Amino acid sequence: MPELLCPVCGGVLTQGEKAGICSSGHSFDRAKSGYVNLLVARQSGAQHGDDKEMVRARRAFLDGGWYAPLRCALCSAAVRHTPAEDTVDLLDAGCGECYYTAAVAAALRTAGKCVGAAGVDISKDALRWGGKRAPDLQLAVASVFRLPVAAKSCDILLNVFAPFAGEEYVRVLRPGGVLLHAAPDAMHLWELKEAVYETPYRNDAAPPVQAGLSLVEEERISAVLHLVRHEDIASLFQMTPYAHKTGPADAARLDALDTLDVTAAFVLRAYRRD
Ligand SMILES: [Zn+2]
Repeated sequence: MPELLCPVCGGVLTQGEKAGICSSGHSFDRAKSGYVNLLVARQSGAQHGDDKEMVRARRAFLDGGWYAPLRCALCSAAVRHTPAEDTVDLLDAGCGECYYTAAVAAALRTAGKCVGAAGVDISKDALRWGGKRAPDLQLAVASVFRLPVAAKSCDILLNVFAPFAGEEYVRVLRPGGVLLHAAPDAMHLWELKEAVYETPYRNDAAPPVQAGLSLVEEERISAVLHLVRHEDIASLFQMTPYAHKTGPADAARLDALDTLDVTAAFVLRAYRRD
């Protein structure tokens, strides 16, 4: 698996039970759930990334299986884009609770590949659940813009609903390695937005462009979700970026929703590192 590096000196971290320690003696505590926190002092302190409430909502919703079509597509793409014979080093940049990471690692193993997998996320709350879901993954709190792994150390990089840090992805992928990038398509959750907002807007679904990464495949995945419980609708809304920008009138419309047919629409793109 891609070895985690010390964020202070860049040395390889030896993973102990209680901490990851580099040869210069920099030490990073391991949480009970398994992740190491690699944010250095000036980065830590304030809440980073998704908070507890958002993580709880997303976990509940994902565990309901509603986004399984995207998970299946990611698994197939990962198997398709990795060579049969070699060990596969997998890194999930923005792994959240590892719902996709764990499934992709399992799919690669089922396909007979030897997999080492790691996940990075800026949210401790997300990684706490990630460690429970996937105890065999190496997990670290860090930014996707400063991934704690060596240059050219990854064969497959996942980037699912997480910021696109193009230059950093070029750095960590081996030549010929593949980035699988999943993002909301233009009409993702349209009916939900229509029900809540006066003037819903479409998502920008333009493909990210990065020198050194060539787009080799683009797949659109969509499904209509028949939500018949208010709590599923509320969880779905809570896990979106718009949840924090909602006024009282919008919130009242959301509270009144007990059933909803809503389109989930994703774009999954594969980029090959030149
Ligand atoms: Zn160090």
